Amino acid sequence: MVYNFSPGPAQLPPGVLREAAAQLIDFRESGTSIVEVSHRSSSYEEMHRETMVLCRRICAVPDHFAILLLQGGASTQFGMVPLNLIRPGSSADYVHTGNWSAKAVEEVRVLGRNYRIAASSADRNFSYIPSGPELNLDGSAEYLHITTNNTVYGTQYPSLPDSGGVCLVADMSSDFLSRPLTWEKIGLVYAGAQKNAGIAGLTLVILRRDLLQRECPTTPTMLRYSTHVKSHSLYNTPPVFAVCVFNLVLHWIEEQGGLADMERRNRRKAELIYHVLDGQGGFYLGHAELPWRSQMNIAFNLRDRGLEPVFLRDAENAGLRGLEGHRALGGVRASVYNAMSREGCKALADFMTDFARRYG
Ligand code: PMP
Repeated sequence: MVYNFSPGPAQLPPGVLREAAAQLIDFRESGTSIVEVSHRSSSYEEMHRETMVLCRRICAVPDHFAILLLQGGASTQFGMVPLNLIRPGSSADYVHTGNWSAKAVEEVRVLGRNYRIAASSADRNFSYIPSGPELNLDGSAEYLHITTNNTVYGTQYPSLPDSGGVCLVADMSSDFLSRPLTWEKIGLVYAGAQKNAGIAGLTLVILRRDLLQRECPTTPTMLRYSTHVKSHSLYNTPPVFAVCVFNLVLHWIEEQGGLADMERRNRRKAELIYHVLDGQGGFYLGHAELPWRSQMNIAFNLRDRGLEPVFLRDAENAGLRGLEGHRALGGVRASVYNAMSREGCKALADFMTDFARRYG
C-alpha cells in the first residue's frame, strides 16, 4: 500500500480518481470525453452549474457572494486581488506568515499599490500566527490579507482573526474545504484546487459582490472579477477537466458528511501524527508552535538532522511517499489533506514510533 503525503498536487480520494478516469473516456454517458465536449454544450454547462450549486451548498456560501472557477493558480490571485480591490490612494494590510504571503505582498509592490505589513512572524521563522495585539491594523484598509494555512511552515489560523471591521481576503489554497467556513468577516477567498479541491488548472475564488464596485476600467478583461461573475465563469474556455474533478470531489465531500465531518476527521488524523511527534522525548522537533499547528501540513525536523535522509529513504521504502520537507525548513513535511485516510496517518505515526525506537 502506498500513501502519498505530497503537499500538492496532492492525493485524491481513490473513488474520485476512478470516476475522473471514467469521465475522461465517457463524459456522463455522452460517448465523448469530458476534454472533448464543447464548454458551450448543455451537458458541460449543466455540470458547470451543478458544481457551483454544490460548492455553495457545501461551503454555505451566502447569496451575496459569487463563486468563480478560474485559471492561473493562486499565484495569479496575488496580483488580481490588489488590482481589483485597492483603489487609487487607498491601501491594504497584509499579515506576513511565510513564503506565500511574501509572494502575495510582492505583487502589490509590483503593481505600485499601497500596502502595509500589519504583522509578521518572520522573527521566529514563521512558527506562529501573529494575532490579537500583535496585529497592527489600519481601520481604513481596503482589506486585510491572510494566508489561512501556511503550507511550507505548517501553521494555520485556528479560526478567522478579528480584522477590526475591515474585510478579510484569505489565501486558502491549502485548507479550503477542510473545515466549515463562516462568511461574516470575509470579502474574498481564493485557492488553487490541487490540494483539497481536485487538480491543478482550476482556481477557486469566492467574493462578496459589492466589492466589484471597486474595479477600475483599465484592468484587462480577463483580470476583472466582474467579467467572470457576469459570465458565470464561462467568459472563455474553462479548465473543463479540472472543473469535472472538482465536481466529483464536492460529491465525495457531501457523501462523507460535509465540511463539519471533514474537520472532525482531519483533526483526528493530524492528532495521530502530532501525538507521536511529541511523545518521543525530543527525537522529533515540530516546527509550528502549539496553538498554530496546522491540521493539513505537519512540518518537523529530526533532532539529529543527519538522520533525516535515512528517515525519508526508509519511509519511501515503507510506501510513505512525498514526505520531504520544503527547502526552507528541510526535514519532513506530512501533508494530510482531506483525501489522506486515517490508515495513512496511522501508518506514518507507527513508522515514526518505530524509527525513533531504532535510532533514538
Ligand atoms: N498559496 C499557498 C498557501 C500555497 O500553498 C500555494 C501552492 N502551494 C500557492 C499559494 C500557489 O498556488 P498555485 O501554485 O496554484 O499558484
